[in-house]
Amino acid sequence: MQKKLFSELGLSPESLKAVAKMGFEEASPIQSETIPKLLAGADVVGLSQTGSGKTAAFALPAIERIDVNLRAPQALILCPTRELAMQVAEEVAKLAFFKRGVRELPIYGGQSYDRQLRGLREGAQIIIGTPGRVMDHLQRGTLKLDQIKMVVLDEADRMLDMGFREDIETILKQAPTERQTVFFSATMPPMIRSLIKNFTRDPVNVRIEDQEMTVPAIDQVYYEVDRRFKLEVLCRLIDLQDIKYGIIFCGTKMMCDELADHLKARGYSSDKLHGDISQQMRERVVAKFRKRGFEFLVATDVAARGLDVDDIEVVFNYDLPQDAEDYVHRIGRTGRAGKTGRAVTFVSGREIWKMQQIIRFTKGKIRREKVPSAEEVEEKRTNQFVDTLRETLEKGDFKRQDAIIDQLLNQGHAATDIASALMHLLSEGSTRDVQAIVEEPARRDFREVRQHQHREPRDYPKYEPRPAATPRERPMRESRPRREGSEASTTSHEQGMTRLVLNIGTAHGIGPGDVVGVIAGVARLTKEDIGAINLQEKHTLVDVTDENSKTVLKKLNGIKFKGRKLGVDLAG
Ligand code: ADP
Ligand code: MG
Repeated sequence: MQKKLFSELGLSPESLKAVAKMGFEEASPIQSETIPKLLAGADVVGLSQTGSGKTAAFALPAIERIDVNLRAPQALILCPTRELAMQVAEEVAKLAFFKRGVRELPIYGGQSYDRQLRGLREGAQIIIGTPGRVMDHLQRGTLKLDQIKMVVLDEADRMLDMGFREDIETILKQAPTERQTVFFSATMPPMIRSLIKNFTRDPVNVRIEDQEMTVPAIDQVYYEVDRRFKLEVLCRLIDLQDIKYGIIFCGTKMMCDELADHLKARGYSSDKLHGDISQQMRERVVAKFRKRGFEFLVATDVAARGLDVDDIEVVFNYDLPQDAEDYVHRIGRTGRAGKTGRAVTFVSGREIWKMQQIIRFTKGKIRREKVPSAEEVEEKRTNQFVDTLRETLEKGDFKRQDAIIDQLLNQGHAATDIASALMHLLSEGSTRDVQAIVEEPARRDFREVRQHQHREPRDYPKYEPRPAATPRERPMRESRPRREGSEASTTSHEQGMTRLVLNIGTAHGIGPGDVVGVIAGVARLTKEDIGAINLQEKHTLVDVTDENSKTVLKKLNGIKFKGRKLGVDLAG
């Protein structure tokens, strides 16, 4: 089935702006097929799998049909559950964002009648509700259907399963006969057929076939991750598995921009590819990526189409693909040329249903894995530390401290204790770097539908197409308060100290303990030789005694620290 551009479907400029704002780059097959027919006024029966974008398929035409000068219900969307009604209402609100004067109102059980009555009185035109509550309002006379132009039955199969048949029939009988009637469903049980026969006129049937998928030999896993922690989990996986070359797929352009920025801030080299980037620029990015000029390409499906790059280690589905077909396209970028590839998918909240769909299509080859724990990340870091330590020992490249050590040994401390205590001191301050995350995310996210839907002018303070991930905040522990200089000037304020600048900071998971640790450990300075430390997001200012500054510059420059190449310079 051909996907089309939204601009080919006959939608208004306001609607096109809204889908663009939501980050949709092209219409899904069910949207491509049904939107023009619905705009033309036909009754439609649309069948396609879960997650294929049915909501926008009926919501956009419903919005287009609203006469804004008429303050009465004109479109009625019936949904099986209150959660679905809320979700649909939220999507309608987003899609109607640029349509002045279009008001939607969710009505479902469990919500106060007051708010619903107010919304109805104030002239809501698109009503999204469960059959039970809609019946209530009809019986009370608080909802009138005489101006209804369109009735949509979303998830018609489920509504029938839930025993809403009678309610639905009653509701349909009360709506004007010249209305448009629309059924959307994932399956077509016989009961729906009779309902369709009785309540539609000459409906157009649109059926999007489920695609049969053949998936190449790729190791596929998914993680259930709360949206808020996706970035942290992504970084954990990259660090733990030493991934150096991958594509990260995002659902929207905004998400691409955001994620590419966050990754850069955390010290991963990355660039992005999406529809808003000029063709010339895209070619440049792809060429650079091919030459491994950076580690991670953050891309949308459309922008990555036709992208032909070998040896991709991992494909990350940071956001779930729109359908199983896209999933297979995405992951097909890894595991080329007989190499084993890997695909990692993040699933948040209610997306688990869509994931199950994908799992079915790919014949269950996707394993669920547990998010690596903070302890595992720590263990990996410790191992890296031990490797550096071993290297230093093997090279013998350090100033000997025999006198001090002998002294400690003479005082009765065991050599292993001394070494352990030193390691403890050095690693102090890095233990809190790993952001705490909720390991077991909720299965559903009951996203709040706006409560103030009837204010003028319309504003959507809470509307964000995708919740923005924030870079992790690293609280600094006060273990060495004396050393945390508060001023960020480029010269030291202390006599005999030289101020240096390091190209690492809080954004790279660095704490004051790390700075002391790496200087003391690698350049062999004592604590007394290290003065004020001023941690910034992407760099750190640190004072060292004048006589040791050259050593620090020489020894630290270019070494690998926390997965990055360390750069040290005189500040200023
Ligand atoms: P369905 O009702 O068929 O199960 P939904 O309408 O709930 O599917 O859509 C599933 C997800 O896909 C939603 O998060 C929705 O915002 C998103 N979506 C819908 N249409 C598009 C599109 N054209 N491009 C990108 N994402 C889309
Ligand atoms: Mg749906």
